[in-house]
Amino acid sequence: MNFLLDKSCHAGLGYWEGQPTKVSLANCPARGPTHEIGHALGIEHEQSRSDRDENIIVFMANVKPESASNYDKEPTINFNVPYDYYSLMHYRERSFGIDGKRAMLAKDARFQTRMGKGTKITHWNAKLMNTMYGCIDDWLKACKKESEPCKNGGYTQKDCSCACPLGTTGDKCENLVLSYRDALIKQLSPYTSVISTSGAVVVSPGYPDKGPSTETQYTQVFRATECQRAVVKFDDFGIQPRNSSNNLCGSSFLEIRSDVSVPEGKIFCGEEIKKGTAFESDKSVLILHYTNGDYTKHGKENTYRGYKATFTTEAIPNCS
Ligand SMILES: [Zn+2]
Repeated sequence: MNFLLDKSCHAGLGYWEGQPTKVSLANCPARGPTHEIGHALGIEHEQSRSDRDENIIVFMANVKPESASNYDKEPTINFNVPYDYYSLMHYRERSFGIDGKRAMLAKDARFQTRMGKGTKITHWNAKLMNTMYGCIDDWLKACKKESEPCKNGGYTQKDCSCACPLGTTGDKCENLVLSYRDALIKQLSPYTSVISTSGAVVVSPGYPDKGPSTETQYTQVFRATECQRAVVKFDDFGIQPRNSSNNLCGSSFLEIRSDVSVPEGKIFCGEEIKKGTAFESDKSVLILHYTNGDYTKHGKENTYRGYKATFTTEAIPNCS
């Protein structure tokens, strides 16, 4: 590899015989150098993986035409390493979006606002690389193992111990406590949840006293059974109001997505959702994405009370 500090942050893909791969590291974001070295070692973007359509929906109409190739699907070989929303190689939901529009929806909506925000090499990034380059096979041989002793997606490392994915415990990763995605979202966003019990009451963190003062982002997925709609009725709603200068919500807002196949939902802030207002899903899933910025950065605290809502379901007429 040839490391350069020219104009941009990019790298060639993989090794081409007879010439070193160029890795340009000018103006890179924090995760840039590792991401670019990933390309140079032959890794495509996560959202370009051959199995991406099972994990994301790409809205090409929302992508800047000159950047469209960043969302091409490639015939990647994935070596049984699962798709990872938190991969170093994944883009953010609005990357290369026209006017900041959403370019991708995560089919596992819990990861919608988390996609592409990983800054460290994940277990799956490392496993893919170590598999591709035959390292795991070499280590198994050196460790005198006939077959992989590590379970649940773990793999044998150079020192013969198992590298275990999140959600597993035990020397051999043999206890599956949580799925990788469940364990990851718990770590990244403990307030993110999937609610499927009719009658469940949800509140925002700190309700009704004060919302979180540090940067907070979470997703609540309301899931009804087939042929039922998810209905979320607000008993109370009060977060930071719109900016008077541009009439846009500031760093605090709630997005409600009632049709999970369209890229953008409706955005609310201030006192815009009156007591008793209900939102219902088109099909069986309704999603709330909540965001508030870092108040402490400006020496302030979040004094808004947040929200409280109740989840119920209702039958979709003529559905079978
Ligand atoms: Zn890249």
